[in-house]
Amino acid sequence: NLEYGADFDYYVFSQQWPGTFCRTKSSCCNKVVKPVKFTVHGLWPENEDNTWPSCCSGPGFDESKVAELYDYLVEYWPTLSCNSPKQCKGRKSGPYGFWQHEWEKHGTCSYPIIPDEATYFSVGLNLHLRYDISKILSDAGFIPSQKRYKTSEMKAAVSDAIGAKPAFSCKGQLINEIWVCLTKDLKIRDCGMPAKSCGTYTQIPPFVTKLESYEE
Ligand code: 5GP
Ligand code: 5GP
Repeated sequence: NLEYGADFDYYVFSQQWPGTFCRTKSSCCNKVVKPVKFTVHGLWPENEDNTWPSCCSGPGFDESKVAELYDYLVEYWPTLSCNSPKQCKGRKSGPYGFWQHEWEKHGTCSYPIIPDEATYFSVGLNLHLRYDISKILSDAGFIPSQKRYKTSEMKAAVSDAIGAKPAFSCKGQLINEIWVCLTKDLKIRDCGMPAKSCGTYTQIPPFVTKLESYEE
C-alpha cells in the first residue's frame, strides 16, 4: 500500500566540506564542530538515467520524530546556510529548514525503502560514520591546506577506501561535496552520474568563517 515515495534506482549520499561552504556569503557556520570534518548534506534517491524524483507526497518534517537524534544532527548534519531554503511546493518552511528540505525533497521519495523520517535521518548519520570522508582523505595524505591535489588521485583514494567510484563536486578549484552511491539495500556501488564541476586540480581549503575571530 504505497501512499508516497517514488520509483528510483539507487541512493546518492552527499557530504559537504564546511571549509568551502562556509566561504559563501549566505553561510552561518557557528554550528561547525572542531576539528572540522565533512558534514552530511543529504541522502538522495537517484535514477540510472541521472534524473531523480523529488518532493514526493507524505508527511511533512516533524522535529519530534528526530528528538533523539537532535544532538547528532547538530554535530554531523549541521545547517551551514543562514538562508531559509526554498521548500517543496505547498510546504511551509519551519524552524529546521535544512532538515525539513532534505526530508521533504528527497526523503519522502525514498519510501518504502526508508519508511519514515526517523529512519531517514538515522540512516544518514550511520552512513556518515561508515563513510568517513575526512578520515579517508587524511589517511591518504589529503589534508585541508592551500595545496592543490590531483583530483584523479583524491578520487582514487576514496574509491580504494570505499570500494566503489565516488562523485566529486567543486566550487571552482575547491572541493564542495563528495558523493558516495549505494544500492537500495544500502550496499556500496559506483556512482553513475557524469563528472561534476571539478577540474584537474582540487583544493581542500582550511575552514574559516566570519565568526572565527571570536571563537579563538
Ligand atoms: P546544485 O544545483 O547545487 O548542484 O544542486 C542543487 C540540489 O539539487 C542538490 O542539493 C540536490 O538537492 C539536488 N541535486 C543536484 N544534483 C543531483 C543529483 O545528481 N541527484 C540528486 N538526487 N539530486 C541532485
Ligand atoms: P539542496 O541543495 O539540497 O536542494 O538545498 C539545500 C537548501 O538548504 C538550500 O536552499 C540551502 O540554502 C539550505 N541549506 C541550509 N543549510 C545548508 C547546508 O549546510 N548545506 C547546503 N547545501 N544547503 C543548506
